[in-house]
Amino acid sequence: MLVLEREAHQGKGSTGKSMGGVRAQFTTPVNIKMSKYSIDFFSKFDEVVGHPADYRAHGYLFCATNEKHLAYLKTNRELQNKLGVTNVEWLQPEDISKMVPQLRVDDILGGTFCPTDGFVDPHSVMMGFMLNAREKGVRLWLDTEVTGIETDKGSGGTSTASKQIGSRLDAALVPRSISGVHTSRGFISTRVIVNAAGAWAAQVAEMAGTDLPVEPLRRQLVPTEPFDQLPQRFPMVIDMSTGFHFRREGKGILLAWNDPKETPGFKTEFDETFVEKILTHAASRVPVLAEAGVNPRRAWAGLYEMTPDHHAIIGPAPNVEGLYFVNGFSGHGVMHSPASGKIAADLVLQVHSDLVDANQLSVTRFAEGRTLEETAVL
Ligand SMILES: Cc1cc2nc3c(=O)[nH]c(=O)nc-3n(C[C@H](O)[C@H](O)[C@H](O)COP(=O)(O)OP(=O)(O)OC[C@H]3O[C@@H](n4cnc5c(N)ncnc54)[C@H](O)[C@@H]3O)c2cc1C
Repeated sequence: MLVLEREAHQGKGSTGKSMGGVRAQFTTPVNIKMSKYSIDFFSKFDEVVGHPADYRAHGYLFCATNEKHLAYLKTNRELQNKLGVTNVEWLQPEDISKMVPQLRVDDILGGTFCPTDGFVDPHSVMMGFMLNAREKGVRLWLDTEVTGIETDKGSGGTSTASKQIGSRLDAALVPRSISGVHTSRGFISTRVIVNAAGAWAAQVAEMAGTDLPVEPLRRQLVPTEPFDQLPQRFPMVIDMSTGFHFRREGKGILLAWNDPKETPGFKTEFDETFVEKILTHAASRVPVLAEAGVNPRRAWAGLYEMTPDHHAIIGPAPNVEGLYFVNGFSGHGVMHSPASGKIAADLVLQVHSDLVDANQLSVTRFAEGRTLEETAVL
């Protein structure tokens, strides 16, 4: 097995830009199951993988400021509980105050807290998986860009697609098989390609003549200078009234907010006008944060890889035998990496996965009107 990376080192895509949050507090069964599997995995990552993930079970605390959000959290908690995530606690404003005394709670009606949610170090997770794979014989070629994908006539002349199109044979729909990949280092012959190209995945899919609905969307994070007016340890706190969320990162605080005005595109530069916007939300929820120092040069931007229903796309490409997608995590690719890797490996090796009904994650769901819709996207 060979991993191809166009950069001089791994992690220069979205993984190295991630906030490292892991949570089971999602709204759809497939995402909750993927999180449950992944968080259990992170809790024993060091032992199983042989390298650290720096998993910290500091929790995620969702704070609701209106009845609608309260009802939403209640419904989600019931589903999470039904699917085996039984430790999501229901909190009153005074419980929330005890957890983070600096939080303004006058308009908070309640919230949920899951103590096994928390953080990992994204770079360590990526390195851990890669080092483990290399110890097992997987090769990694850096500075190697995938520039094209070669296919030949597929084996499956009886596939559903070919039956449906009948005599109207459209080249793009004729089943084909992977025969190799063109790279900046030459051609590599292979029958299986796993597209793991993050926000650039649609471009790689296109090289094989197939569509993948994955779109890049900029996300920006702002770290504060060392700040001791918040506890040393507290959960990821989400203010549901604005979407502003924050957590401790070393001596400072890491501030996050998804600007609803952001538009899709490969924008990876940090926009300095974002600082004022995020600080306004920060100071409104946590008044002491108005005193935090921020150096915009330490802030950064990266890309979410968005799908139309905010769920990953994992599984085979419909008309290109041997091409698999592991893409479109919509902001959850680090936390779902253990489950995604397991599902992808299951599908390549044995066609189905016991972890989830992988058909739900298939790219064909869009054409077939089976979209899922995750609303808890931060
Ligand atoms: C600001 C921010 C905060 C986030 N916070 C979280 C969070 O708290 N929790 C969470 O779970 N997720 C979070 N995410 C999302 C998460 O980072 C991504 O979902 C995840 O990193 C995707 O991993 P990936 O390996 O699929 O993609 P990437 O890490 O982007 O890797 C794709 C790789 O493919 C390479 N590549 C692309 N095209 C080619 C080509 N043609 N040839 C060769 N190589 C190629 C790229 O160079 C890149 O290294 C966040 C993302 C951002 C931007």
